[in-house]
Amino acid sequence: MPTVFTKIAKGEIPSYKVAENEDFYAFLDINPLAEGHTLVIPKHLEKDYIFDLDDNTYLGLCAFAKKVAVALKAAVPCRRVGVAVLGMEVPHVHIHLVPLQTEQDLDFRKKKLELSQERFSSIASSILAEYEKL
Ligand code: AMP
Repeated sequence: MPTVFTKIAKGEIPSYKVAENEDFYAFLDINPLAEGHTLVIPKHLEKDYIFDLDDNTYLGLCAFAKKVAVALKAAVPCRRVGVAVLGMEVPHVHIHLVPLQTEQDLDFRKKKLELSQERFSSIASSILAEYEKL
């Protein structure tokens, strides 16, 4: 049974794409802590736990996340892009990238933002445009 994130990477479930290459995919978290909250995943591997990844995939995922974070910071003004790995909900490795103004912006207990489809689309397009400049 494929994970929800495999289905997203294959385009079988819709997502707000912000970046992609052959092996990795980045899309907006549907329950964002902040505008631009992004998830970065390996497309072809369904490991649950990030530290079970082979070194090549792990390093490739981190390098891709770094590039996405650069694009994210250019598109969504913030002090820093915060990085978190939880994996409590979806058993498919993913890195959270969250634009931060304060440390509270990385508090996963706080109420998530409710954004319109138009707002999600507009944020995703801005990040993708920055990613494509890199
Ligand atoms: P965790 O596994 O604890 O890192 O949390 C999974 C994250 O994936 C949560 O922040 C969810 O909001 C997010 N999420 C789950 N399903 C989707 C989806 N279909 N599209 C975008 N984000 C999702």
